[in-house]
Amino acid sequence: MEDYPETILEFEKRFATEEACREYLAQLRWPDGFCCPRCRYRRGWVTKRGLYRCCHCGFQISVTAGTVFEGTRKPLRLWFRAMWHITSQKHGVSAMGLQRVLGLKRYETVWIWLHKLRTAMVRPGRERLSDIVEVDETYIGGKKPGKRGRGAAAKTLVVIAVEDKGNHLGRIRLRRVANGSASSLIPAIRESVEPGSLVRTDGWSGYAPLPSQEYQHDVVRQEADVGDNLLPLANRVASLLKRWLLGTHQGAVRASHLDYYLDEFTFRFNRRASRSRGKLFYRLVQQAVAVEPVTGEDIRGGSPYSRQHNI
Ligand SMILES: [Zn+2]
Repeated sequence: MEDYPETILEFEKRFATEEACREYLAQLRWPDGFCCPRCRYRRGWVTKRGLYRCCHCGFQISVTAGTVFEGTRKPLRLWFRAMWHITSQKHGVSAMGLQRVLGLKRYETVWIWLHKLRTAMVRPGRERLSDIVEVDETYIGGKKPGKRGRGAAAKTLVVIAVEDKGNHLGRIRLRRVANGSASSLIPAIRESVEPGSLVRTDGWSGYAPLPSQEYQHDVVRQEADVGDNLLPLANRVASLLKRWLLGTHQGAVRASHLDYYLDEFTFRFNRRASRSRGKLFYRLVQQAVAVEPVTGEDIRGGSPYSRQHNI
């Protein structure tokens, strides 16, 4: 069923032509065969220009229309190489690194591509975390080290939710929030964690309404000294995230674009045990033809969250 190359040689052989790339996209976009978006007729043929044409109503559509690749003027072969490179590197790749690999002249192009692909790293309708979930916040960015508390300036607050699988890290969700108040934290938890789950937090007041929101609430020791590691799983995720931002991305992530990076980190983290890099590539392509396209202009303006909150 799931059909993907396992090695770079298989990849190179398989995606040597535009036609091969296009067919792969079509296969993932229309797994049950072509379906006309206008009349739903199930048969079409490929025109000389590489468009899919409905046998019934004559409607023509590019396989890239309505996907991450919409409107691209670059060969799909390059996009495929970008996706292969991103998924075959354990920690991903910076825009500059990818620019070098692809040999593209403009840094900006690669930077936009990476952000577009990050939008495909969130599976539409993905399920929330469940069972036992540790939740904590961490500050990202800013020059000064943050003091303990929820009020450090010039820093971005991120809520970390991680499943506790018997002291092993399960899946994670990361969400940026405006501040540490209950009105920021509770909606972030509702988006990330299935009601009925046991949510473990510290004694911060922003988490107090959890029991009224259909969660079981486990508060670890209220009085904590600085340096106490009360929520070891969430802390571990926080330090891996920070290391990744500083390492792969050299800390060059703007607050307005942090959400995209959080999505990429989550995508990688939740698939870290996957032995096959080819499968990661497959997932990325599959989601790239399933998500709504965003324009370069949208991306330059920051993440939807930052545009909405004007930060
Ligand atoms: Zn049709």
